[in-house]
Amino acid sequence: MPDAPYTKKTAELTGNSPQEIWERCLHTIRNSVAPQAFSTWFEPIVPVHFNNGCLTIQVPSQYFYEVLEEHYLSVLREVIDKEIGPTGKLNYSVVVDTGGVNNKNPLTLKLPTSRNDTLFKQSSKTQQIQPKSPSVNNFSPFNAEQADWQTIEDSQLVATYNFENYLEGDCNRLARSAGMAVASKPGTTAFNPLMIYGGVGLGKTHLVQAIGNKIKQLDSNKFVLYVSTDRFVNQFIDALRVQKIQEFTQFYMQVDVLILDDIQSLAGKERTQDIFFNIFNHLHQKGKQIIITSDRAPKDLAGLTDRLINRFRWGLMAELDRPDFETRVAIIQMKMESEGIYMPYEVITYLAESVENSIRELEGILVSLVFEASVNNTEFNVELARKTISRVIDNFEEQIDIDFIQKAVSEYFQIPIEQLKAKTRKKEIVTARQVAMYFAKTCTNFSLKAIGQHFGGRDHTTVMHAIDAVNEHVESDMQFKNIITELQKKFKVK
Ligand code: ADP
Ligand code: MG
Repeated sequence: MPDAPYTKKTAELTGNSPQEIWERCLHTIRNSVAPQAFSTWFEPIVPVHFNNGCLTIQVPSQYFYEVLEEHYLSVLREVIDKEIGPTGKLNYSVVVDTGGVNNKNPLTLKLPTSRNDTLFKQSSKTQQIQPKSPSVNNFSPFNAEQADWQTIEDSQLVATYNFENYLEGDCNRLARSAGMAVASKPGTTAFNPLMIYGGVGLGKTHLVQAIGNKIKQLDSNKFVLYVSTDRFVNQFIDALRVQKIQEFTQFYMQVDVLILDDIQSLAGKERTQDIFFNIFNHLHQKGKQIIITSDRAPKDLAGLTDRLINRFRWGLMAELDRPDFETRVAIIQMKMESEGIYMPYEVITYLAESVENSIRELEGILVSLVFEASVNNTEFNVELARKTISRVIDNFEEQIDIDFIQKAVSEYFQIPIEQLKAKTRKKEIVTARQVAMYFAKTCTNFSLKAIGQHFGGRDHTTVMHAIDAVNEHVESDMQFKNIITELQKKFKVK
């Protein structure tokens, strides 16, 4: 593709409008991505403003943003470099739709350079499409003189993390309800500090952000401050550098609600722990709310001083567990619904069965799946889901799925596959259905409930009954036993 002449100048010098700049970006992008991808992921973008070398584009949803971030980061980086210049930056503005109550304004997210610690990067003052040259420092030239905490102007909360979209399940019931209690009466419940702990991607950040948002919603005058522990540590180092420790401490002592995320990062950083200890005591004494998260139980927080850990015991420690199957299904349904995407129930249950460790992982797979389906213009089905999972999750064991079993059994008994899911109670069909259910249980990880769903939405007790019936039948009928043995060879029994 020949270079357009305007690319020689930087956008800032020519004083172009955001629309003109974006138009030129699109021109380049069109040549570097597939046509389907271009129309799905780039045409809907609306350029909103251009200021100080930073182009802000509006994308229709968080999902959209995640797809761009995951799949087109390098394309965007390149094009910004080319059209705006080596110091060019890109911001996303995501249209937040929470039912239209609070968020008329778009939420501005800044493009992170990696998927980790997104919140920190979104709220950081540094820009996220970094100039190519690694030697250029991360600070914006406009606030190089200011330490990070001095630039904080708001609560650092992300409106999309709220209680409405934080689904309740057995895995989070205590933490969620303690969070709601704290949100309605910060500083005055027994839950001070409130410590939420649990593994990566289980919803700690979402929950504490939801608490912060709720508090602000009930009383916008409250000074709520969310900060990741890494950022807090960096701020402290900054404060040391500019010799403003006292100012730094005072800044934190004036907040009404302090949310410190991922406290395990304080391990081994004794000076920061000391400062935090002082801030903690001051706030607690004044009846201010402190909320902490940790990726492990307090007793396992090696590298934190005992006196600090003992302080955490003053309040409530609530654990987030791995989400149960029902919660995983509900989360997928909610995500798809909020995106206006229809996904067949069997694909949803397949995903929920296969991805059980973390909600973040589950969401990552959904993003990839939606992306795959849109680019290839195909429908969601179990096969596509399986491919996506095995690409995303290392050593994902390709297991036999229920569709495969149903197909093999219906072929063996020479009945149409739909009959296995239908209501009919004809004897030979009931037998085939029970056999298929039996193998679904013995050869896959699917729960009784999920298996029932795959057989026309039957109850889990029906599946249990089917398994018992097959076992009894095997005992009493040699011929039936042979059938089972033969079929068994088709399925790898775990
Ligand atoms: P953590 O901080 O524990 O690593 P996050 O709070 O970042 O986890 O959660 C990971 C993802 O899972 C987020 O996108 C979050 O919105 C989502 N998530 C976690 N728990 C829930 C829940 N109960 N309902 C809906 N989404 C959830
Ligand atoms: Mg987190």
